[in-house]
Amino acid sequence: MRVSDQEYSRDQRSFHLALRMLRHEARLNTICAWTKFTEERVRNLSRSHRRQQPRHDSEPHRGPSPKRLAPLLATASLRSEVAALAGLCRVLGIIPEARLLNARKRLPSVTLGERLCEAFEFFQEIVPFARLTFEQLVFLVFAVAEGEMCSIDLCASCRAVILVDHLSLARRVCVHCQNAKRVAADGQRREGEPTMETPEEPLEPPGSQRRLFD
Ligand SMILES: [Zn+2]
Repeated sequence: MRVSDQEYSRDQRSFHLALRMLRHEARLNTICAWTKFTEERVRNLSRSHRRQQPRHDSEPHRGPSPKRLAPLLATASLRSEVAALAGLCRVLGIIPEARLLNARKRLPSVTLGERLCEAFEFFQEIVPFARLTFEQLVFLVFAVAEGEMCSIDLCASCRAVILVDHLSLARRVCVHCQNAKRVAADGQRREGEPTMETPEEPLEPPGSQRRLFD
């Protein structure tokens, strides 16, 4: 059977996308969904890739992908990363403007998978200590596209992009404005009696990303 140039080109793009996702430690079901390759093909690809680059751990991860939003919003720096990446994915057309029901099934394609990798790689370039994983990004893209648990909005104070958790009653402001408000409140408090209150956010270890795009 003769394989057309178009089919060959499509297969090559899926092949390179699968390798790229393996490097980002994507799970097997994620790679299959975006490349349209079978599990067997991804496993074979992973094996041959490891033989060629034995020091590179590119075993496709098993088990379920992230399913909860809360761990992605656990700290101020993660919330900044999530907001910036969600905004980037919207600008790049990975996350559609309109809500997409069942995005997990309907969104993945080779073209969008390539853009997703570009967004992730670009973000890692400009935010060296970024902690959001590729699988968390995939979860985020589906969650925002479906629009049930969260959505993209603008900070009520400075108009920066934020991610709104639909279960949260917190004021819709970005991490930077939230911190600025807290610092101002602390300053006013210090003018009165000194207090021993601890900060609302736990201090993060040295080297972690504190603020983005200030
Ligand atoms: Zn703001």
